[in-house]
Amino acid sequence: MSERGLLIVISGPSGVGKGTVIAKLIERGAVLSVSATTRAPRPGEQDGVHYWFVSESRFSEMVKQDEFLEHAEYVGCSYGTPAAPVDELLDAGRDVILDIETRGAMQVRSRRPDAVMIFMIPPSMDELAGRLRGRGTESEQKIAERLAKAREELPLACGSYDYIVTNADVASAADDISGIIRAERLRAVRRTDAVDALIGR
Ligand code: 5GP
Repeated sequence: MSERGLLIVISGPSGVGKGTVIAKLIERGAVLSVSATTRAPRPGEQDGVHYWFVSESRFSEMVKQDEFLEHAEYVGCSYGTPAAPVDELLDAGRDVILDIETRGAMQVRSRRPDAVMIFMIPPSMDELAGRLRGRGTESEQKIAERLAKAREELPLACGSYDYIVTNADVASAADDISGIIRAERLRAVRRTDAVDALIGR
């Protein structure tokens, strides 16, 4: 049987660049869980690739059927991680990344204590505001809401996550996370099989 993959949660303020860093990690073999959301697609976003874009009623139905590993509301829209595909991928030995906000992340942490919890921060708040504006997909009001949300979420990073990665540049942030993944794989609790094999236990 192949070794079970790592469940990796990556949170961070909107605009911090999680998507770009995660794209690098996918090139290196990780897979991204596709969330369901009631948010409207942005230009270029495809159903089943970036998100499963679902109606409010479908989302409620999924909650009722207990299909989510976690779910939360974020600036007026609902987001959730369908549990079944995540477990299938982990069982197949793949490292699965969840790009989720903090409340959902806390649900994952309590349901899956072995999840690796990473919080990504920008080099400065000015840089974050610049990145959000540069994306050009949100109104000034939405940007203000997302910045306010960031200020609310950032203090959580100190206490509730295992690692804080600064995204000053994409390549270094991706390298930092690859380093975390390598180290997590070597944790003693994940290496009992190797020791057992050595001593024939
Ligand atoms: P966006 O609308 O910019 O794609 O995402 C907004 C926020 O929702 C981001 O912080 C993103 O990490 C979070 N998010 C995306 N999918 C999920 C999910 O399945 N569950 C939770 N809890 N948050 C999610």
